[in-house]
Amino acid sequence: METNILEVPTVRPHVLAMATMEAQVVCLVRLHCSDGIEGVGEATTIGGLSYGPESPEGIKLAIDRYFDPLLRSGDATRIASLMGVIGKHVVGNHFAKCAVETALLDAQGKRLGVPVSELLGGRVRDRLPVLWTLASGDTGRDIEEAEAMLASRRHNAFKLKIGKRPLGEDVAHVAAIKRALGDRASVRVDVNMAWDETVARQGVAMLADAGCDLVEQPIMRHNRAGMARLAARSPIPIMADEALQGPASAYDYATAAAADVFAVKIEQSGGLYAAKDVQAIAQAAGIAVYGGTMLEAAVGTAASAHVFATFPTLPFGTELFGPLLLTEEILAEPLDYADYGLGVPDGPGLGVTLDEERIAFLRRDAARTTISLPSARMA
Ligand SMILES: [Mg+2]
Repeated sequence: METNILEVPTVRPHVLAMATMEAQVVCLVRLHCSDGIEGVGEATTIGGLSYGPESPEGIKLAIDRYFDPLLRSGDATRIASLMGVIGKHVVGNHFAKCAVETALLDAQGKRLGVPVSELLGGRVRDRLPVLWTLASGDTGRDIEEAEAMLASRRHNAFKLKIGKRPLGEDVAHVAAIKRALGDRASVRVDVNMAWDETVARQGVAMLADAGCDLVEQPIMRHNRAGMARLAARSPIPIMADEALQGPASAYDYATAAAADVFAVKIEQSGGLYAAKDVQAIAQAAGIAVYGGTMLEAAVGTAASAHVFATFPTLPFGTELFGPLLLTEEILAEPLDYADYGLGVPDGPGLGVTLDEERIAFLRRDAARTTISLPSARMA
C-alpha cells in the first residue's frame, strides 16, 4: 500500500454548518499487487475532524500501520475474504476501509477487464443526475452561481447548506433563491444536524411553504425518534445522511420509519459493498435513495458513480460534484460532466487514470519550489 495526502484548493470557500472549507484534503491510496496491477482508492472528509471521527491524516496512519500488514499477507483477487479479515482486525474506520476496498476493486476490474460497476452487480444506467451545492454564504452570489449553472446546463437541482444562521434568515435565503429560480430548478436544503427538534418542526414547515423540495438531516443523528416524528408530519421528504453509518444504522432507521430518503455514501457506509447493502435495505423498506458525497475528488467520485449506477432507482439523483469544487484536476482525462449529469466511466476498474505530475505537485509533503528570478532580484 502507498498512501499520500493531497491538498487541493476549492474554487470558492464552501460554507457548511460545521466548517468552512477552502481546500479539500485527500488521502490517496495505491495498492501495488504482486501481479503488477495497481489499484487506486481515495478517502476524504469534510473539514478535517469537524464532520466525523476520521480525518485524512488519521486514515493514512490507520492504513499504513494496521491495514498494510493484513493486505500483504492476503490475496488481492479475493476481495470479500480480504475485507472480511480487515473487518475482524479493524473496528470502525469506515472511510479507510472504503479507500482500501475501492483500490482492491479497481485492481480487480483492471485484472478482469471490466468496470467496477459490473463487479457490483451491473449498471442499470450510464449517466447520473448531479446537483450542485450553493454554499458561498451569500444569497446574491448563490443566485448568480445557480443561473450560471443553469445557463451552461451543468446543474438544474441545487442544495443549500443552512443551519448556521438564525432560522428566519436561513428560510429567507432559501425562499429568495427558490423565487429567483422558480420551476427551472429543484431547491433542497441540508441542515447538517444544526437544529433541535422544535426548531426543525417549525423550519421544515416554513421551508415547505418556500418551495423547498427536501430537507436533509435537520437534527442530531442520534435522535432517531425525532427524525421519525419529523418525517411523519412533514409535507416534504426528510432525508437521513449523518445518521447512516452503514447497513446496521440503515436498518435501524428503516424499521423506525425515521426518514423518507436515504443519502447513500460509500465512505460513511464503510465501502462500496456496504453502500449497496444500505440501498437494498432502503429498497426493502420503501425508502427512496440519493447518491451522497463526502466531497470526494475524482477517484472517490468515480467509485461512488460505479455504485450508484447499479441502483435500480435513483429518484433524487446524486451530488457527485466533488471534482467540480476543486481548482485542480487530478485525472489525465477529467470526468465527463454535461447535461446536468455525470457519465459513469466505462473502462476497466474505476476507468480513471491519474495525472501523476499534478498528484506529485499537490502532495502535502511535496518539495515545492517557487520560481526564482535571479536577474530581476539582482537588478
Ligand atoms: Mg449531508
